[in-house]
Amino acid sequence: MLAQLGDEARPLAGGQSLLPLMKLRFANPEHLVDLNFIPGTSYVKKEGGALRFGAMTRHAEIENSSVAASVPILHDCAAGIADVQVRNRGTIGGSVAEADPSGDWAVALMTLATEVRCIGKNGERTVALPEFIQDAYTTVLAADELVSEIAVKVPAKGSGGAYLAFKRAAPVYATASAAVQLTMDGNTCKDVAIALGCVGLTAIRAKDAERALRGQEITEKILAVAAEAARAAADPQADMRGSAEYKKTLVAGLVKRAIQIAARRASGEPVEVGAIYA
Ligand SMILES: Cc1cc2nc3c(=O)[nH]c(=O)nc-3n(C[C@H](O)[C@H](O)[C@H](O)COP(=O)(O)OP(=O)(O)OC[C@H]3O[C@@H](n4cnc5c(N)ncnc54)[C@H](O)[C@@H]3O)c2cc1C
Repeated sequence: MLAQLGDEARPLAGGQSLLPLMKLRFANPEHLVDLNFIPGTSYVKKEGGALRFGAMTRHAEIENSSVAASVPILHDCAAGIADVQVRNRGTIGGSVAEADPSGDWAVALMTLATEVRCIGKNGERTVALPEFIQDAYTTVLAADELVSEIAVKVPAKGSGGAYLAFKRAAPVYATASAAVQLTMDGNTCKDVAIALGCVGLTAIRAKDAERALRGQEITEKILAVAAEAARAAADPQADMRGSAEYKKTLVAGLVKRAIQIAARRASGEPVEVGAIYA
């Protein structure tokens, strides 16, 4: 149908981004192609060394999935998105396709080996998440293409992760967020991925912060270096959520805290995480 209707058609998933944009007249599609009645597009499963999420899987289904909980950063992310109403409607596929600079999913997924499966009239293709998201609200998807699945490689043994979002209230986007996924070898951080949210046009990988941690014991000194590197990587804009300087300081603090929680989880300690409210 998308191929037949052309550029003026938009797919409708949970409607939690598209409908507000239509109400504001920022989006005015001539046709909506409702994905809600396509069978077999909502699932969470572990298969072929990856956690697989059908594009139409709601945030709430992921929040409540024991399969997703095996990678705690995914549960942190799903459980912290907006409020119950939004989580019951909004989908992981819609979030990734929307590429909202303030969206939570891309930040958490950026720290894992994540692939986006796309389907269109010319067949299927799989795109690594960092290549899939091109810019704010911009992806590699063609107008007649759909996201069909998000696949996350199961992290190595000894891994742990955490996603922390700082919010003014539940039904608003975060002021800043940080995702950390690391692998420990005893007390040493063997590998790590760090992503920052709401402080740039897309999720930002804080590569210098990662370099500061890799091969090191996680001491207060190293944490401070990593947090400072994350602050430097952030490129936020001032808005009603805070000044650019405020967001930089905030994201540095979130990174530090997320590293500590990720390391505790990597050692097998169960640590509960929720969104942090102002
Ligand atoms: C009050 C409120 C608060 C919110 N707070 C947060 C928050 O804190 N964090 C957060 O991350 N999000 C938040 N959201 C957004 C929410 O997570 C949305 O669910 C999500 O951004 C979009 O998913 P959706 O399924 O609703 O997509 P839709 O709104 O239906 O679609 C979004 C866009 O993606 C396209 N699309 C949808 N599915 C596909 C697909 N399978 N393939 C190709 N294109 C597709 C649509 O055409 C549209 O352009 C909030 C929304 C509201 C209303």
